[in-house]
Amino acid sequence: MNKLLILLGLFFISWKLCAADTSSVPNVRKVAMPGTVALTFDDGPNPIYTRQILAILKKYDIKATFFMVGANAKLYPDVVKEIYEQGHVIASHSMTHPMLTRLNNAQLEYEVATPSKIIDGIIGKKPLCLRYPFGASNEHVREVIRENGMMPVPMGFNSFDYERPGTQKIIDWVLKNAYSQQVILMHDGYDKREQTVAALPAIIEGIQKKGLGFSTICG
Ligand SMILES: [Zn+2]
Repeated sequence: MNKLLILLGLFFISWKLCAADTSSVPNVRKVAMPGTVALTFDDGPNPIYTRQILAILKKYDIKATFFMVGANAKLYPDVVKEIYEQGHVIASHSMTHPMLTRLNNAQLEYEVATPSKIIDGIIGKKPLCLRYPFGASNEHVREVIRENGMMPVPMGFNSFDYERPGTQKIIDWVLKNAYSQQVILMHDGYDKREQTVAALPAIIEGIQKKGLGFSTICG
């Protein structure tokens, strides 16, 4: 009986070790720290809007997380470097922003693996998370992201800034929904982002007035 228990114990321990071995996924924060919100910017970098956002973040001494598209990182490596050198977190948002759930295996591997190589080539560090475009994922997509050494990350609270509803509407919507540990999704790339840039100072000040601070995720 004792031998059986010992064998069972050994089996359990080796099973746990195996499970740990197969997982090279970094153990990083996916939500903001208690008492803070995480500002996240998707679809960049962009030489105009990303730099304007960086200047605002610098003024308020706030760190944010940038989920960038690999193709844009390749186009604007200097902006990638600036983001990193100013202490923000750089994460992945795929190579060309497709719906990852609609790709074949070769396409999916390309979309997941390539941005990491590009970002590593620019800042000497691979991203630890990939936020799947359009919030679209399934278990296979998330597994491929994990196999590539990243944690899959969902959208975060949608500011709808990409709909460009007017600066004040973006401010009101975000502030109404800003609470401890909230991850807020905004956009610095791909399209016109004047409203996002214009809304950002009031969003930061409004969050501070709520007594909340700021933290990054995926760092
Ligand atoms: Zn996106």
